[in-house]
Amino acid sequence: MRIDVHTHIWPERIAGTVLDSMVHDMGLDAVGVNTVEGVKAHMRESGVDKSVVLGVVERPDQVKRANDWLISIQDDMLVPFGAIHPELEDKADEVRRLRENGIKGIKLHPVMNSFYADDPRMFPVYEELGDDMTLEIHSGRFPNDSPDDPLYAAPERIMNIVRQFPRLKIIALHLGGMYMLDEAERVLLGQENVLVDTTWPPSLREVAAETLTAIFNKHGSHKVCFGTDFPLASQVTDSDYILGLPFSDAEKEGILGENARALIGL
Ligand SMILES: [Zn+2]
Repeated sequence: MRIDVHTHIWPERIAGTVLDSMVHDMGLDAVGVNTVEGVKAHMRESGVDKSVVLGVVERPDQVKRANDWLISIQDDMLVPFGAIHPELEDKADEVRRLRENGIKGIKLHPVMNSFYADDPRMFPVYEELGDDMTLEIHSGRFPNDSPDDPLYAAPERIMNIVRQFPRLKIIALHLGGMYMLDEAERVLLGQENVLVDTTWPPSLREVAAETLTAIFNKHGSHKVCFGTDFPLASQVTDSDYILGLPFSDAEKEGILGENARALIGL
């Protein structure tokens, strides 16, 4: 089964506006339409069976409404992960509500929401996720960070969560450290109890094949999950790139879906 663990879509009503600002802020072009129908059309083209849809919010008052919508779009093709904001008061309750409504994980974005990944305010959330729900967390910088911005999601901070909550199922996004691959390699890659995803917009091809192969080998290809950041990168282009790397068919199918299927429980 092919699974993309990292996509972003929105309700029809606001999708166009969000896409315009994403494209503008990140300076990237969209490869598809960021709606339920848009991602499904892209999946049919790319042979991806399931996409994990990640909830993103800017403010705490947006969490419940975003999660209500994410709960409503669950089906055979879409696996939504809820959004949680550090300033939401009843964070653990919201995680429980997500679980009770069939949601299998959450996404956290320390850079966008300005909190350190290992902030003790988040511990009740990590505790509540238990050993059944999966945490996907932005790891590394943001493309438009300035050098003196706080490193909210540095790989070392992600590892502090992994060490504190060894039962937690966690995927450190962007190869464990977007634009921080040196630190990721030093402190995260090769460690147990943490998976990484391959999301690297606008294309994974920006990471040289030798580098990517070395990263997969160091971390263990059984702990790597395919992700894209659709609509900012293409499932077709990025999965083709992985298929061309020097790994066995079984290892490649693991990366392209089976590892995520086993972790998330799909
Ligand atoms: Zn993303």
